[in-house]
Amino acid sequence: MLSDNQLLRYSRQLVLPELDLVGQTKLLESRVLVVGAGGLGCPLVLYLASSGIGYITIIDHDVVEAHNLPRQVLFDERDLGHKKALVVAEKLTRQYPDSDIDAITLKLTAASQVPESHFDLIIDATDTPSVGAVLNTYSINRQVPLLYMAAVAMEGRLFFARGYDTNKPCLQCYLGGAADPLGGCHTLGVLAPAVGAIALLGATQAIRSLLGDPPEGLTCLDAWGLNTLKLQLTKRDECSACGH
Ligand SMILES: [Zn+2]
Repeated sequence: MLSDNQLLRYSRQLVLPELDLVGQTKLLESRVLVVGAGGLGCPLVLYLASSGIGYITIIDHDVVEAHNLPRQVLFDERDLGHKKALVVAEKLTRQYPDSDIDAITLKLTAASQVPESHFDLIIDATDTPSVGAVLNTYSINRQVPLLYMAAVAMEGRLFFARGYDTNKPCLQCYLGGAADPLGGCHTLGVLAPAVGAIALLGATQAIRSLLGDPPEGLTCLDAWGLNTLKLQLTKRDECSACGH
């Protein structure tokens, strides 16, 4: 049941047939884990909280640095040197009281480090295959969908993994044994609004998944040329994470 304040706050979303009262209530009860509070994670959690996702846990071990500021839009110069996850939790809690935000400042290296709480969706916003592998294991073991996001230069990708399902690919079916990139945004660069565009598409698809309509496949966006490509991936029988 939504309060009078919530009916007012979310009134423009409530008129959408995809949401309505039932959907908004569902979002307020949803629990999402986001790993990475960087260029993808900042806009993503900002819009998840603003849309009324009730419980968000953020894992990030990094501290804010000056070169983060153009695209990690939840930080300002006063945050330099502070733990990103803590800053995000503090700011979002103040701005969006309907969201209960938890911050964890560890470097995620094993699925066992993921908090015991139940999650309806986990999101990899790190663009780091080794973290993706940890979250993929968690996704398969706990039967929780995994949204993978990546961005570099003017391009980005979204992939929705449900490897616990007999017919759906997991993240490893897509990434294979990819190693963590040596360069990535450090050498190839990244344009702030391009990474933001991917993050907000990810937030939209996350909401869709939480409302019971999970997206399929891999979406590639060239934000500069404004081209998108959608691919359906299949489960790989020989996949060591989810195959037979
Ligand atoms: Zn797989």
